[in-house]
Amino acid sequence: MTTIGFMPLLRKGSTLFTAVVIHHRMFQSLGGPASVGAIYGRHKKHISNVLGAGAGEVARSLFNYSISPHQVLEQHTLFGAYSRTMAPHVAETLANQLIAGDSSRFRWAFRGHRRRQIPRLTTCLRSCEKCIEEDIDLQGFASWRVLHLLPSIGHCPEHGKPLRDEGEESTDGIRRWSLQLPGERTSSLTTLKAMNLSVSDGYAAYLQLWSEAFEGNLTGIAPGTWMLVMDAVAQHFGSAGRACEQLTSTIEKTWDAKLPNIARSLRITDGELFVQAELEQRVQASYVASRLVICGALDALGLSPPRLQNSPWQSQLELLPMAPFGSWFTPQTQAELARLVVHANFPPALFRGLSDDLDVYTLADRIKIDRIIIKRFVRTLPDELLYKMSKEQSWDRSSWLMKELSRRESAWSRSVQ
Ligand SMILES: [Zn+2]
Repeated sequence: MTTIGFMPLLRKGSTLFTAVVIHHRMFQSLGGPASVGAIYGRHKKHISNVLGAGAGEVARSLFNYSISPHQVLEQHTLFGAYSRTMAPHVAETLANQLIAGDSSRFRWAFRGHRRRQIPRLTTCLRSCEKCIEEDIDLQGFASWRVLHLLPSIGHCPEHGKPLRDEGEESTDGIRRWSLQLPGERTSSLTTLKAMNLSVSDGYAAYLQLWSEAFEGNLTGIAPGTWMLVMDAVAQHFGSAGRACEQLTSTIEKTWDAKLPNIARSLRITDGELFVQAELEQRVQASYVASRLVICGALDALGLSPPRLQNSPWQSQLELLPMAPFGSWFTPQTQAELARLVVHANFPPALFRGLSDDLDVYTLADRIKIDRIIIKRFVRTLPDELLYKMSKEQSWDRSSWLMKELSRRESAWSRSVQ
């Protein structure tokens, strides 16, 4: 397949699907699947395409390598929105799979630690009238925007206009995106739950934060830094409980809505307890919306999380190195346990919990992670680490650690018999 070569015109933030539509216009006789194939390499399901499956091929076919496959992912796909809160190893693994055209394992990067579905990642195609106008003035055609696909917004982050649902067609009961550009079909005001919220200062700031996250400026929401931000916020207010009260009241005031309503409207998986869950650091890293609501409140309180480029105002938030955990663990043991937990896509609450002398039931109850999932994870920890942990502080026989060590011992003695 030859390079199309005209798509440096595709502005940052426009979806790759826009290019599919334009290709289809140019080579109509080939049919829609051929256009999808020309852009992405081969035909794939749309959910994986909007995440960027085939980005390696796209960097060649559309951009002739004027941008890297990684830049394709960040600038033109939902990967650019959702990867910002993922642990570096998780984002990197996902990026490499998508670049290679493998979309079969993307759920791992999003999966909650509880046995639940991943949150809904996208909606139908949606448009903003102001974006359409601007695009046509600037480039002669309107393009679909990545951020408009997010199910947790009802308005254009750039213009604040309510979004319009459009661009889906149904043949034989299968709904698919029609090969058209924004504004070319009849549309209707989006019926998403986010539309239940009033257009408040809090909501406007939240929309703006989605843009900042997508552009990569909001570096404070990445798991490593976010952990320190949450620690510093708890420190600032005296305790996680006090911080929770302050953040909740700031959010409810600026959004002019109650927390349960906000959580429901934005489809936040942890529900109305999301502020507490974030402060207790037990939120799956790939859930962006709840984190952005909290960022908005922190900005309003003058406690802004770090940005790549400096905020226009001075943040009073003082980030300290990671607080020690475990009563007697050496720094090496702490670092290794933390690394393995984050590497396996679990939140910080798990490594802090694992450093306490607890049985697995108490642990599961405290950090709200299913005990079966904890047990399964614990089985992957190296013998040497568990042995070191068992020597460095005292453990009850009923603790998760002693249970796991004895499970290994009996498995070992069975295997040598
Ligand atoms: Zn707009």
